[in-house]
Amino acid sequence: MFNALVGSIALYGTEVRGWRNEERVDRVKKKYVKWILGLDRRTPNYILVEETKMRELRLEAMKRVIKYEEITRKTKRKIVMECIKELDTEGRESEENKKGKGKRRRKEKEECRKKIEESKYNKHYENIMTEEIPKYLRERRKKKDRNVIARYRCGNKMRGSQHWREDKERKCRVCKGGVEILMHVLKECEATRYETSIEEFLKEDGKSCELMKRIDRIREERRKEKEGVETGGK
Ligand SMILES: [Zn+2]
Repeated sequence: MFNALVGSIALYGTEVRGWRNEERVDRVKKKYVKWILGLDRRTPNYILVEETKMRELRLEAMKRVIKYEEITRKTKRKIVMECIKELDTEGRESEENKKGKGKRRRKEKEECRKKIEESKYNKHYENIMTEEIPKYLRERRKKKDRNVIARYRCGNKMRGSQHWREDKERKCRVCKGGVEILMHVLKECEATRYETSIEEFLKEDGKSCELMKRIDRIREERRKEKEGVETGGK
């Protein structure tokens, strides 16, 4: 799916297009790409935009992708319908508006980078972001694997940094010992620790996908065990 998206970007990359109501389309677009990649709704947009290089997405490309999604999966999902409706009602912006757009984009990029540097949600993103679209998104991959990698890279998988959660909810789901951050999961936690660096684990090539899935499996096992204890087998 994302391959189709990237293909469309390449196809329309040289054209300069815009939107009359850019902000509104942007919002829907972000929601849609989060859904496609299986990311939490609360994933900061500055991470989403950087990870997918979303600035490059064009309206036409989005339309194609949505139609593709619709046909291949015959989905009636609300978000897809919403997207199509929004995109259909949007036109291209006028010639005058195109000026100043480059300047605005550059400023947006700077602001985005600053937010990444200061991010509390994902302290590691600064060290793993890429110039191009990350390799794991460019390659052909199973949707499930691609989404696991995206979720780990974007910081969805570590509750320790999710500040809105209560303290007890931010503990490691496996050992209940430390706060659930990558340092704990990869270096300290008895069941999940592994000989790898955080940067290597989150690298754009997605080579640690199996390790990511292993952590997920262990978490899932622990969750089931806990459920079993709570119902007491009665
Ligand atoms: Zn642990």
